[in-house]
Amino acid sequence: MNYDYLIVGAGLFGSVCAYELNKRGKKCKVIDRRDHIAGNIYTEKVNGIEVHQYGAHIFHTSDKEVWDYVGKFAEFNNYINSPVAKYHDELYNLPFNMNTFSKMWGITTPAEAREVIDAQVARAKAERGITEPKNLEEQALSLGGQDIYEKLIKGYTEKQWGRDCTELPAFIIKRLPFRFVYDNNYFNDRYQGIPIGGYTQIVRRMLEGIETELGRDFQKDVSEIPSMDHPGICVYEMDGDLFSNVIYTGMIDEFFHYEYGPLEYRSLRFETEALPDCDNYQGNAVVNYTAREVPYTRIIEHKHFEFGKDAVIGKPIHGTVITREYPAAWERGMEPYYPVNNDRNAALYAQYRALADEKPNVIFGGRLGMYRYFDMDKVIRAALDTVKGML
Ligand SMILES: Cc1cc2nc3c(=O)[nH]c(=O)nc-3n(C[C@H](O)[C@H](O)[C@H](O)COP(=O)(O)OP(=O)(O)OC[C@H]3O[C@@H](n4cnc5c(N)ncnc54)[C@H](O)[C@@H]3O)c2cc1C
Repeated sequence: MNYDYLIVGAGLFGSVCAYELNKRGKKCKVIDRRDHIAGNIYTEKVNGIEVHQYGAHIFHTSDKEVWDYVGKFAEFNNYINSPVAKYHDELYNLPFNMNTFSKMWGITTPAEAREVIDAQVARAKAERGITEPKNLEEQALSLGGQDIYEKLIKGYTEKQWGRDCTELPAFIIKRLPFRFVYDNNYFNDRYQGIPIGGYTQIVRRMLEGIETELGRDFQKDVSEIPSMDHPGICVYEMDGDLFSNVIYTGMIDEFFHYEYGPLEYRSLRFETEALPDCDNYQGNAVVNYTAREVPYTRIIEHKHFEFGKDAVIGKPIHGTVITREYPAAWERGMEPYYPVNNDRNAALYAQYRALADEKPNVIFGGRLGMYRYFDMDKVIRAALDTVKGML
């Protein structure tokens, strides 16, 4: 064997595995079908501003070990995610907290907010005769009442899923994260921030000294050949090199040539615009558009992630870059962003998992290999645990 590991995917999962294995003396090669490293956390400078090319990425975790680990590869700023929701001409703070309730109903105390919510929930249940919510609309109304549902949930959710809330299952919303404090920090985690200089550097540092080839596709460039030494096991060959193990972070169904049919995803389309004559487009990194008529769900203004208040006061950074995020139905060939968690896909994934279990020298990892939405900290944790488990 020429190599111990072929790592398919230079995203976060593949790169943490490569770094950890290389550190332990294993010979690794990393390939990615894209023309850049870092997978979906890829950021690139546009007019001096780090642009999150695959949607807004905010690092947040309560896992101290993961926070310290990622801190070895980049310095993080003190960014706190505090998105704003825009419904027609009205602006509301997110997540739903006392600032939101105060703006919506002119109240000031938690008791008053609870009273309004309880009254609206009771009215919605009585008017609609809701006992056991049959769909997402009934579920949201019976958890938050009419105003929160109409202004902040309905349009946004319908755009995200491409279907009316009455056609979506109730279980998508289990509870509404109401906070009866004046606190716009979206996440509950202990640690949070954005790497100064972007995310790509983190992966670049992880892959330092490890052979990495871009524009290489596992399906096209790698062949599977039966092992001479271990009957029933395959080894992998690329350009005449042999690999005894594979860490695969692509789509698990694609690995098995869609033998049982494709798993479903939701996709996104990003429209990025540089505005050299505008210094401050929306005054916040993330603004959610909650009205159904607006075709995008969010606008990201990237400079606010990185420069904090320096973007507009102190040391103004001239010009700005914004990205509009449009939800999209997924078809084969498009970027698969979010797994669709329903019974059909759970059963299909279980079938692919059973095939994967027959390949002891192939590890399926990351969001696509495990068909699971993972935040970055969970991906790092899963990759560290995977390497520990393997060795
Ligand atoms: C819109 C959006 C916003 C997000 N925001 C946040 C956030 O704010 N905070 C947070 O913690 N997390 C966020 N995430 C999650 C984060 O993006 C993931 O946790 C992380 O990128 C997953 O890393 P990965 O290595 O599993 O997958 P990926 O980054 O997708 O890497 C997989 C790589 O494998 C390559 N590949 C696939 N198939 C093949 C093949 N056959 N041959 C060669 N290469 C292949 C792909 O090109 C890709 O580069 C967000 C995700 C999305 C979609």
